[in-house]
Amino acid sequence: MVTAELRARAARHMLSFRGVAFVTLAATVILVLACVSVLLETRHELVRRADIMAGNILRLADQAVQIEVGRYDLRLLDVAVELHDAAAEGKAALPSRESLFGGAAIRASLGDIIILGPGGEAVSSSRPGLTRQYAAVLPEVMSDGGSTGLIAATVLPGGGGQPLIALIRRCLPGACGAAKAIVAMLPMSWIQGVFDGLELGRKGAIALVDSHGTLLTRQPLLPNLIGHVVEPPSVIASVPHLRTSIYSRRSTADGLCCRVTAGWVGEFPLLVFVSISKSDILRGWSHLAFVTIFAVVVLSGGLVGLTLLLAQQAHRKMMVDRELLAANAQLAALAHTDALTGLSNRRGFDADLAREWRRCRRSGKPISLLMLDADHFKDYNDHFGHQAGDVVLRALADCMVGQIRRPGDVAARYGGEEFAVVLPDTDLAAAARIAEAIRVGIELLAIPHWREGCVTVSIGLGCAEPGPAAAAADLLAAADAALYESKATGRNRVTARAVTPRPAVEPAPA
Ligand code: GH3
Ligand code: MG
Ligand code: MG
Repeated sequence: MVTAELRARAARHMLSFRGVAFVTLAATVILVLACVSVLLETRHELVRRADIMAGNILRLADQAVQIEVGRYDLRLLDVAVELHDAAAEGKAALPSRESLFGGAAIRASLGDIIILGPGGEAVSSSRPGLTRQYAAVLPEVMSDGGSTGLIAATVLPGGGGQPLIALIRRCLPGACGAAKAIVAMLPMSWIQGVFDGLELGRKGAIALVDSHGTLLTRQPLLPNLIGHVVEPPSVIASVPHLRTSIYSRRSTADGLCCRVTAGWVGEFPLLVFVSISKSDILRGWSHLAFVTIFAVVVLSGGLVGLTLLLAQQAHRKMMVDRELLAANAQLAALAHTDALTGLSNRRGFDADLAREWRRCRRSGKPISLLMLDADHFKDYNDHFGHQAGDVVLRALADCMVGQIRRPGDVAARYGGEEFAVVLPDTDLAAAARIAEAIRVGIELLAIPHWREGCVTVSIGLGCAEPGPAAAAADLLAAADAALYESKATGRNRVTARAVTPRPAVEPAPA
């Protein structure tokens, strides 16, 4: 009873510990997943907002550059038309500077406008004396293919002069004065003025490049890169017209990881690249991620620690229960064992007989019972002493155990110098053989007895077929009666008695 309760308690502890461990594990996993999901979602949102901001900056810059470049392009077209009209009117020489560049817009412009001859030399300009200033770069300006559209190029004048952006249009065929191209030389400062007002974060950048990927200008300015190819053709080709291209990459200028939004400036061969540094985008997020991960680690650690503590407690309880179970089993064994012979005692015998009786009843097999009693044992004790008697009782027990072989057979000390042997699945004849073997075995021990020569036993054998007509008590009674008969008829013998089934109870006559 106690054992069953202990087992149930141990099972309950194990179950509740497993439940708590599962809940803790699930809670930890859910916590980690939820935090990771929130962090990723927040990060994604920050990058999305940065992309929107970069898109707005790009549009602003795009509009400003478009207006300015468009203004110059109109001037170039005006001059080109003027040259063409002069040729149509049959004028061979170039019109005067005043008629070519005298418009108010050109006068108010920052940049110079120069007309180039067939060899790339300056044949006229919006300001006198420009020929010398641009002489070195003008042929270079002419080198850009045979395009009839607007061409943009960077010009680095010698002598440490400010970089320039050259906007070039080829003259219409047959222009007067053999003019080949008209160039607007824009100082970089005008676009710097546009870029200066843009908020790009601490490490952000905005760059204007031409269709070959050559850097025209940049904010913050990196003078060493101006005029160099900073965007490979593959990148230029990947930027769609009339739309923006957004991607992440490591900056070629400073190696920083950044988010780039790129787009063409209207229909002009110019592109604007807006880079927002990832460290700027994720500055607040990194702190949040650090704090959140720290909190999750501390919480998960706490949960795991608690679970381990609980596991330790559960383990301790289990060990105590196991010890209790072992002690209980030991006590139960002791309660059913005879201290002198090591056989089952009377209590154990009762339990064994009842168990084997039920088993034979279920299987429909016969069961036999031997009752043994040492002959004239009182006299033996009186003569040799109780201690010698105890030795004999142990020898009798060993001899009995030596004669029974099957696992179901049970030998027990019934009380005093009486023993019992339960023989399940054994009929009368087989049981009689075992009884006789025990009797002879004990006789052969040849334990001297002053009265009878040697110690002998009388055996009573009962055999029954368990069922509604016979009970275990009947078997015991039969064996007892047979033993009595063995004693009465001279001792040192086996007497067998089959249990007679009790007649079924007849219904009383009406
Ligand atoms: P019988 O042949 O009729 O059985 O005669 P008996 O002397 O054996 O029977 P009785 O019932 O008169 O005596 C039983 C004796 O068994 C009495 C007692 O001294 C002895 N005895 C019972 N238990 C023990 C025990 O544990 N140790 C010893 N040494 N002797 C015991
Ligand atoms: Mg007796
Ligand atoms: Mg006796």
